[in-house]
Amino acid sequence: MQFLEKSWRPPPNSILDKQVINRAGKNVTTKFQTKWLHQRNWPAYSANPLHCGGWCKVCLLFLTTKGRSVGAFVNLAFKNYSKSKEKLGSHESADYHKKAEERGLYAKTQLQNIANRVDVQLNKVTNQNIKSNEAILLHIVDAARLCAVQQIPFRGHRDDKIQFTQEPTDNEGNFIAIIRLLAKSNPGLKDHLEHGPENDRYTSKTIQNEVIAVIANLIRDYFCQCLEKCPHFSLIADETTSHGREILSVCLRFLDFVEDPCRPIKREVLIDLCDLTRTTGKAIATALTESLTKHKIDIANCRGQAYDTTSSMSSSKRGVQAEIAKCAPDANYQGCCLHALNLAICHACEIRPIQNMMDSCRELYSFFRQLSKKATLFGYRY
Ligand SMILES: [Zn+2]
Repeated sequence: MQFLEKSWRPPPNSILDKQVINRAGKNVTTKFQTKWLHQRNWPAYSANPLHCGGWCKVCLLFLTTKGRSVGAFVNLAFKNYSKSKEKLGSHESADYHKKAEERGLYAKTQLQNIANRVDVQLNKVTNQNIKSNEAILLHIVDAARLCAVQQIPFRGHRDDKIQFTQEPTDNEGNFIAIIRLLAKSNPGLKDHLEHGPENDRYTSKTIQNEVIAVIANLIRDYFCQCLEKCPHFSLIADETTSHGREILSVCLRFLDFVEDPCRPIKREVLIDLCDLTRTTGKAIATALTESLTKHKIDIANCRGQAYDTTSSMSSSKRGVQAEIAKCAPDANYQGCCLHALNLAICHACEIRPIQNMMDSCRELYSFFRQLSKKATLFGYRY
């Protein structure tokens, strides 16, 4: 449209294309006249030596007739300057030129009427879809977040073919139960669950895992921000066997100056769960350093280590604490007090009177634990 309305015009005093013709035995020079560009809205001038001369920009843009000889102004440059009046008039009154002008006018109207443009209409529909999907996704995220915060399991035994139009006959799990509850007070979500495409409901385990992963990344990003403000931290780790896998939990303890710079908050957070192939001090220390590197945390800023008192963790020669101390010499080791107490009691129980005392304590603990019946007896009220 810019080409149609603001096509290039030769600057004043520029040398325009010339033609020498023989008129009554004399050579006469004729040339392109700039005024033709001002008198009509369709002619254009090309100074390119390959197709120098006059052209019809309307026909060039909007002429759709094919296989027809339309001649000067369209297929080749107009150069018959001596017959300009006749040629300009005949082109202007040609049917194909008039049709091209009609199409140009229609295109211009469509482009100016932005609201009715096809691309705008399509964008409008797309934007509406994005907004409604965002609103639905918000509920999905809320449900996943609630399960995570309350530390309750997400899934039931079967939750892959949920019929939201029917009441559940089986336990579909906490996540789906929360989504159903939310849908009762939200017509948009209800309609999406009951009538939306089955492969586009955002309730599958894959989406649940993706939402958890996104939330976990956001939380990790926040912790990284905290460590940028105050880089020193303590490392807490423990390994356990679960479902035939050796898993190492990696936790950090640090001060959070981001939420309130004047009142730092003590944070103790799980940042990773690593699979272990071996449980030697070196293997566990390698898993720890790799996990920290993965989260862009510099181990040199570690100021404390806290593990259980097993030799693979606590040994000052070949344990994890010794391996970590090589990269972080200021990281003091603190063994788990409860683990140490447990070991001390186990050793102490080798003495008969202490074993008897511990047995009595266990009996007393069991007695008071079953207080539901004895509460009335002792006059307790809960
Ligand atoms: Zn034309």
